[in-house]
Amino acid sequence: MSHDLLPPAPLRLGGRPLPMVGPLRLYTCGVTPYAVTHLGHAATFVWVDVLARVARHASMEVVVTRNVTDVDDVLTEAARAANTPYDEYAAMQQYRFDHDMSALAVRRPDHEPRAHRHIGSVVRLAQALIEAGRAYEVDGTVFFDGTKGADGGDIATAHGLDQAAALVAIEEFGGSGLPGQRNPLDLPVWRASGDGDPAWPSPWGAGRPGWHAECTAMVLDTYGSSIDVHAGGRDLAFPHHAYEAAQAEAVTGVAPFARSWMHVGTVRINGEKMAKSTGNLVLVEDLLAQHRAAAVRLLILDRPWAGDWDYSPADLMAAEGRLDALYAAAGRRGDEAGEAEIMRALLDDLDVPRALGVAMESGGSAARTAVHVLGLG
Ligand code: ZN
Repeated sequence: MSHDLLPPAPLRLGGRPLPMVGPLRLYTCGVTPYAVTHLGHAATFVWVDVLARVARHASMEVVVTRNVTDVDDVLTEAARAANTPYDEYAAMQQYRFDHDMSALAVRRPDHEPRAHRHIGSVVRLAQALIEAGRAYEVDGTVFFDGTKGADGGDIATAHGLDQAAALVAIEEFGGSGLPGQRNPLDLPVWRASGDGDPAWPSPWGAGRPGWHAECTAMVLDTYGSSIDVHAGGRDLAFPHHAYEAAQAEAVTGVAPFARSWMHVGTVRINGEKMAKSTGNLVLVEDLLAQHRAAAVRLLILDRPWAGDWDYSPADLMAAEGRLDALYAAAGRRGDEAGEAEIMRALLDDLDVPRALGVAMESGGSAARTAVHVLGLG
């Protein structure tokens, strides 16, 4: 067997091998277009972009889908406050988001489903869940029964959470204390709409999709019953992804819904999560006014993807310096052997710090490979 026929290093994600035969089907929870993009959002999308670039560089076929949650109560409220029709408001915010993403060299996804085009699928999902005994309807709202997990326990237990922790997480996303809810773990697949809420017809009256169900429907509509990597910020793991997956598995009978999860670490400021609600924000457009986009990317990438981290301006300045060092390494005559080593590091759980270490040491084509694959050019 010649050396050329040796298979490339396998992709590992979250410490586990993810053998790929067919295309890598990747889905990321996108933004609710109601506010400008902050560094925490950007971190998720830059990491997903790098996963796709690394897989493509390793000759895998990759299909990237990133949804737009354009039906959401926070969006409705923001549009109302701005005195603009909500779809027009969403389109405007979407434009600003796309602008930030392309400035950060995040490639456009292959598919960009918008929640409002998948309403019919959410209605069919709700209907199928009722028929399967996994959901019930009260006054026009259809609740997914969170007390019945796939293995007999409830959905919180299935995700290693105790009831109290699960309820705190659910509360944060406004999913508790809804009228008709039999158990606080039961979350809406479909919600009855009041005056001023967006509304579509359904067998249960005028209503709108529940947030988790929107993603379930968009994944199933785009890929069928399962995907390879489901990505999103770590704060989406529960309840959003837990319900999204449980609802899909309950109607398709195919488990796991996602072979692998990529929950990207949270970006904090002074130890606190970045959030519009608290005003604790670093906006991408502000960083890009002062720094090279590649330096912002490097700041995001030069660490393990799953870990939480604190933003500091000093670290961004250091990333500027490290970027110059990387370019200098790429400009000198180098050691060819480093190239394969860089790809081995990146395929091994996207180990960017290790890949950069090799790039700096080897220089030349190895460093150029790192610049190219990490989108730092
Ligand atoms: Zn989602």
